[in-house]
Amino acid sequence: STLVSIDLVSLVNDVLMVFNQQPDQPTVDLQLMPDIHQLPVIGDKTRLEQVISNLVSNAASAVKEKPDKNIQLILKGQDESAICQVIDNGPGIDADIIEHIFDPFFTTKEVGVGLGLGLSIAYSFIRDLGGTLAASNNPEGGACFTVTLPRGPCVK
Ligand code: ADP
Ligand code: MG
Repeated sequence: STLVSIDLVSLVNDVLMVFNQQPDQPTVDLQLMPDIHQLPVIGDKTRLEQVISNLVSNAASAVKEKPDKNIQLILKGQDESAICQVIDNGPGIDADIIEHIFDPFFTTKEVGVGLGLGLSIAYSFIRDLGGTLAASNNPEGGACFTVTLPRGPCVK
């Protein structure tokens, strides 16, 4: 993979633009905290796009049955880290499976719907960049996935 400086703000905007072009997808609410204009990280563009797009598709399938679908994508710079969170108001992740969701081929989706590879690939890719990918449940219900990467140098 080719490691270059990438602005997460524009990468996420690109991913959401493609996602929103698909029919019948819930809208994703993008929040930049604070009002940042760019959030540079070092990574491979295609693979980082895959990670974000996988998290957003997982969130979209999680909220499928909800009348009040809500997906939030939060980008923030915190000290030396760039953080990207995808938060949904779906059913959340059961306590008995949460430790398995990053395993290759783990899926709760029907045969043919999910391969169970998205999160395992995302996990090792983010780890290889010196970052982390973590899953949790929101206190008010739903799941939250947090990507943390080392902040890259600012690009002019
Ligand atoms: P797949 O989407 O093909 O099932 P993933 O690796 O992307 O594979 O996800 C593995 C499993 O993690 C899913 O089948 C689901 O059980 C759980 N999961 C992932 N994202 C969410 C989410 N946003 N809410 C609830 N469960 C989730
Ligand atoms: Mg998936």
